[in-house]
Amino acid sequence: MIYAIAIDGPAGAGKSTIAKILAKELELIYVDTGALYRTIGYYVTSQGIDTADTEAVVAALDGLKVELKYVEGVQRVFANGEDVSDLIRTPAISMAASAVSAIPAVRAYLLDTQRSIAATHSVVMDGRDIGTVILPDAKIKIFLSASPESRAQRRFDELQAKGDPATYEEVLADMIKRDYDDSHRAIAPLKQAEDAIPVDTSGETLEQSVARMKEIVYKKLAE
Ligand code: C5P
Repeated sequence: MIYAIAIDGPAGAGKSTIAKILAKELELIYVDTGALYRTIGYYVTSQGIDTADTEAVVAALDGLKVELKYVEGVQRVFANGEDVSDLIRTPAISMAASAVSAIPAVRAYLLDTQRSIAATHSVVMDGRDIGTVILPDAKIKIFLSASPESRAQRRFDELQAKGDPATYEEVLADMIKRDYDDSHRAIAPLKQAEDAIPVDTSGETLEQSVARMKEIVYKKLAE
């Protein structure tokens, strides 16, 4: 039986870290949909296109092929054959991804990639609209959140570990803007699906959040 676990929520709530662990344990494919929006943000920016120029962003999609591939079980994302997985993890590309994600043609362009993988494999898919739009029939839906400060701290720690010069204040300000924009856009805004289970990870260690998520998932799978 093929089934899906949909995890939505704001940036830095721990979605990808927890989803990866669940995927490994349950032998599911982990699909990080944010990477798809980031790839478009990266591609248009590298073409010198302003992400606010909707027409130019939409026109650029014609020259872009975005692909997800799994190398030793780990998702990699490709733009016209180039592996951009590591290049898309910067604060600037986070903001570019959020800007392009509000464009309906961008969302339509990525719809098939997301749905077709879930049609042929059991997945843990994380994003902003997985439980509401992409996989409304997902067996398990979780809405993961945490306070802006704890989310910004996690993201700041990740960036520091990579040697990124962003300050905590910059990361927090970017995150608050991105959450606001993602939640207030006209199309597929970030919101909890009616049948999603809310999980707040503020102040929890990763182990505690993972344990809680596993409990929810195993209980649901047993139903
Ligand atoms: O999850 P991540 O932070 O990598 O996502 C980057 C941006 O992509 C988000 O801020 C959001 O604007 C957009 N996104 C989206 N829908 C998804 C996943 C990501 O709009 N399913």
